[in-house]
Amino acid sequence: MSDLIRLLPDSVANQIAAGEVIQRPASAVKELLENAVDAGASQIKLLIKDSGKTLIQVIDNGTGMSETDARMCFERHATSKIREANDLFSIRTLGFRGEALASIAAIAQVELKSRKEDEEVGTSIIIEGSKVKSQEPVACAQGTTFIVRNLFYNVPARRHFLKSDNVEFRHILEEFQRVALVHPEIEFSLFNNDKPVFQLTKGNLRQRIVHIFGSHINGKLLPVEVKTELVSVIGYIGKPETARKTRGEQYFFANGRYIRHPYLHNAVEQAFDELIPDSAIPLYFLYIDVDPTTIDINIHPTKTEVNFQHGQLLYASIRTSVKHALGMFSLSPTIDFDTEPTFDFVAPKGYEPKEPTITLNPDYNPFRKPQNFLKANAGMTPNRTGWEKMYEGIAGQPSEQSGNEDNRDFQLIPSSQNDPAPTLIPENNLFEANKLFQVQNRFIVANVKSGLLIVDQQKAYERIIFERISSNAEGQAIARQRVLFPQNIQLSAVDTEVITEITDDLDSLGFEISSMGGGTFVINTVPSNMPSNEIIDFIDCLLEDYKKDRADSADDQRIKLARIIAGNMAVKTERTLKVEEMQQLIDELFACQVPEVAPDGSKVLKIIQVQEIDKLLR
Ligand code: ADP
Ligand code: MG
Repeated sequence: MSDLIRLLPDSVANQIAAGEVIQRPASAVKELLENAVDAGASQIKLLIKDSGKTLIQVIDNGTGMSETDARMCFERHATSKIREANDLFSIRTLGFRGEALASIAAIAQVELKSRKEDEEVGTSIIIEGSKVKSQEPVACAQGTTFIVRNLFYNVPARRHFLKSDNVEFRHILEEFQRVALVHPEIEFSLFNNDKPVFQLTKGNLRQRIVHIFGSHINGKLLPVEVKTELVSVIGYIGKPETARKTRGEQYFFANGRYIRHPYLHNAVEQAFDELIPDSAIPLYFLYIDVDPTTIDINIHPTKTEVNFQHGQLLYASIRTSVKHALGMFSLSPTIDFDTEPTFDFVAPKGYEPKEPTITLNPDYNPFRKPQNFLKANAGMTPNRTGWEKMYEGIAGQPSEQSGNEDNRDFQLIPSSQNDPAPTLIPENNLFEANKLFQVQNRFIVANVKSGLLIVDQQKAYERIIFERISSNAEGQAIARQRVLFPQNIQLSAVDTEVITEITDDLDSLGFEISSMGGGTFVINTVPSNMPSNEIIDFIDCLLEDYKKDRADSADDQRIKLARIIAGNMAVKTERTLKVEEMQQLIDELFACQVPEVAPDGSKVLKIIQVQEIDKLLR
């Protein structure tokens, strides 16, 4: 039998490798921006068309490439950044694998123009699907321009799996911000379909953060700085009042690279400890610098996880410096570095650890107003308690929907006003109200014919609200109420994209939200019966949940939103219910179309049959 094994042609090998490095337009954007930074550019311009599906163009004024380099850069494992294996341990550049351009050229139509400072003419190369189509001298400015057209044009399956323009653009924005946040000394601009999104002038770190996230953040940033022999951390944290109940801006960078690090995230949270509720997440921009030999750099280009050799020291340093930045040093002697729990880290021979040097902010007093989130503040409850009111027998907000005379704030809105939703209860009197009782403030237990009914209180609420919202979402306008004092919410560029994407669906679910420009939105209406005092928090949570659980297809987006809204409206209601409240909840639940299943698919209730009880007690 003849031999079967063959080497794959380069173009095929490149295409396969490309799948690893370039997953979506944002991955190409990241690689091109990082190359421009590595090339020492002081100005970098990013132009996007159709969320990068049609065009990604990066223009830099960096070193540029010689004719040979311009050709070489598209080869696999072609890099100017390392020469030998040892170099791997001292990487200071963002790229080093020499894979990115080969990958992009394998799956797109790429045009490169580049000129070095000391050369008169530059080089232009056109390459498509790894095949060079043309190469010629060209007059161009110093630096490099990459034009990437029709990404995945020859990998239809990939192209097919790209998400909506909004989603893809959001990923691009995230990558752009991550690079721009590390290099305030570089001028960055971003244009989407010819419209300017960012024009970031040179400045210091604080100015860069404010340029990106808006002037409302200025004045709310506290500087953090700590330097030890082995690690250094600088950056900013947000004052406690900026902590949100949702993930917002949390950025760690290690040696100029954006990373995720749950362990170090915990160090920041620990430092904020008493100042914010458990459910709130502080905002931070922290830049870690360590000796490159102490960082596990052998990470995949698309991964953001990193291992630090001195992780524990970093943890302690971050925790301490954040505490100091918060001004807690004067309040809590126990955070003295000496009394911190000691961490075992292996110090190199002859190394004597020094105390970190801390930059204090003498002006900051965490107990000065406004301190919305101070736990100590009597009467401040950290949870979304406002929504709880929905279930209490109190009068609601003024509502456009009348006919709410019985003062109950909680009622199913029947599909037609004259035709109340049928309730399943009365049929041979399934429940005896006076025999309902509550377990652990979480479950309602009832004696039913065949045994014991257990209802999860929280899930029951979610089901009820979900049905109310989603049935209304099918075509009919949901009853809504105008917010008496329309509230403004300021969103980051990413969240602005998200909310724009779901504006119509939110509107059909009762939230009328309009854009004022510059990331400011005003909330005009909310579904009736929703208390209006915590709307901003509510929208935050909603956006965050939506981002976590993004709709893949357009048609289930509205249901998904309904589910998220239900989850957020049905507050964590672990509290004692009166018998009438239990009865009402059970009634409403069994008036639902699918009382047994929570919006997330889990079980709302279970009946334990008498026989099962017998068995249990055998
Ligand atoms: P890597 O960045 O890992 O080295 P790439 O495939 O991204 O690999 O780039 C290959 C090489 O092309 C780089 O090492 C660099 O020498 C050159 N290069 C890429 N982009 C630029 C640019 N914008 N300006 C100058 N040189 C560049
Ligand atoms: Mg690179």
